[in-house]
Amino acid sequence: MQISTILATKGSTVVTVTPDQTIREAVVLLVDKHIGAAVVIDGAGHPVGIISERDIMRLLAQNDHALSEPVSRVMTRNVTIARPGDDTRVVSKTMTVGRFRHLPVMDHGELVGIISIGDVVKAQLDEYEGEIETLQTRVEKG
Ligand code: AMP
Repeated sequence: MQISTILATKGSTVVTVTPDQTIREAVVLLVDKHIGAAVVIDGAGHPVGIISERDIMRLLAQNDHALSEPVSRVMTRNVTIARPGDDTRVVSKTMTVGRFRHLPVMDHGELVGIISIGDVVKAQLDEYEGEIETLQTRVEKG
């Protein structure tokens, strides 16, 4: 299954922050939207990083004033992205090997969505269930 199939149901909304916003603002956003990561964009809307709850926890463990720090202090700058045509099996491997749970999806330089490891696992389960049903129908008919 392609990533674009997941985005077709999930939608293309990507929650973003800017590097100069505070970590407190990022935390409020993550909590309000029930998500674990936000893409960090520059003034032109281009991704310049990603900030996840793990980055925030890491900083909080070292610094009592972490919430007033800017997002740029903890964001990961080297963002791995996916393309809409990528296969879910490939991206689940990318996330497992890279040890991260979020992948922004870019198409022709534009941010067109974000997928989490949860989205990928759900899509794969749906796909397997469909295959099992097909096989069961074949066995019953045969
Ligand atoms: P996560 O498992 O997604 O909460 O993120 C774990 C760590 O990987 C954090 O330091 C994130 O900033 C970083 N991270 C998350 N997603 C990506 C990504 N697509 N590319 C690079 N780093 C990422």
